[in-house]
Amino acid sequence: MLFLSQAQELFFFHDVSPGSCFFMPKGAHIYNTLTDFIKSEYRRRGFSEVVTPTLYSTSLWERSGHWEHYSENMFTVTCEPHTFALKPMNCPAHCLMFEQRVRSWRELPIRWADFGALHRNEHSGALGGLTRVRRFCQDDAHIFCTPEQQLESSLKQFEEHWELNPGDGAFYGPKIDIQIRDALGRQHQCATIQLDFQLPIRFNLQYTGADGQMYRPIMIHRAVLGSLERMIAILAENFRGKWPFWLSPAQVMVVPVGGGSETYGQEVVCRLREAGFMADIDDDRGSTLNKKIRSAQLAQYNYIFVVGEKECASGTVSVRTRAGKQLGQKSLQEVMRSLNELRQTRSNQEEL
Ligand code: ZN
Repeated sequence: MLFLSQAQELFFFHDVSPGSCFFMPKGAHIYNTLTDFIKSEYRRRGFSEVVTPTLYSTSLWERSGHWEHYSENMFTVTCEPHTFALKPMNCPAHCLMFEQRVRSWRELPIRWADFGALHRNEHSGALGGLTRVRRFCQDDAHIFCTPEQQLESSLKQFEEHWELNPGDGAFYGPKIDIQIRDALGRQHQCATIQLDFQLPIRFNLQYTGADGQMYRPIMIHRAVLGSLERMIAILAENFRGKWPFWLSPAQVMVVPVGGGSETYGQEVVCRLREAGFMADIDDDRGSTLNKKIRSAQLAQYNYIFVVGEKECASGTVSVRTRAGKQLGQKSLQEVMRSLNELRQTRSNQEEL
């Protein structure tokens, strides 16, 4: 995993900020692509994104109960005479947003998503790569709803097997954990959906019901990917560097073959980058065509576009896959259309 992240220049850690990841451009591409994917799902599912502060007075954490139960896991910053803490979760901030004005039953469910950076003080001995970090970001969202809009009834509609696990440390209320299995058959717990009756009481959250009376909403904490950092670690191991095209930080390597094809190659790279693809060019004149193709394959570029005089004259590229399959000469326009489709459908296929 560490070797892979270095070979592909995805991310690294440094002593100056233990447990906080530096994502290089290629790692940031994976990070942002996952975030964009979740955002596109949010738009379809009625979630709105909010942006909230990172530092809060300890008075907020006292109100939420985190100070009592969780303070040893929180980083504090003292700015005389006040003490602040870096947020380990977004929930209290969303409760503050809810109470900004009187809410009506007609507005519910309210679904707020937050990609804010979270900090938890894991002991330095427990830190390990991307799976245990101090600084991370979740695809976190909170749903405020009426008791009737509920959870168990949606589970009943879900076709797959599920079971109740009442003993599992559900601190706030009932909770659903979703385990996924990776390519090696190992289980990871990622998605969590947790019902919370406590925070709405602590923040005295209320909404006006259809009968004009005040009612207490239920809060649902949910994250699908969980921490983006951890999800990237799981995916990196799962794909072993062979990222599917839509997530890949190395999508296309353009290889010019002699003559005036370098300028054309640069142009192809520009077109690809403008369209948001991760494209590079290998214009090292000291290397042979075969060597360039080989090294692009080893670097796990999904596609290699060879461009020579012929391609330059006809506005085409000769396409190969990282597995070595030759897909022939295609017009740049046609190839861009196919790449767009692959990205949009998040397909794993190699044919264009
Ligand atoms: Zn929460």
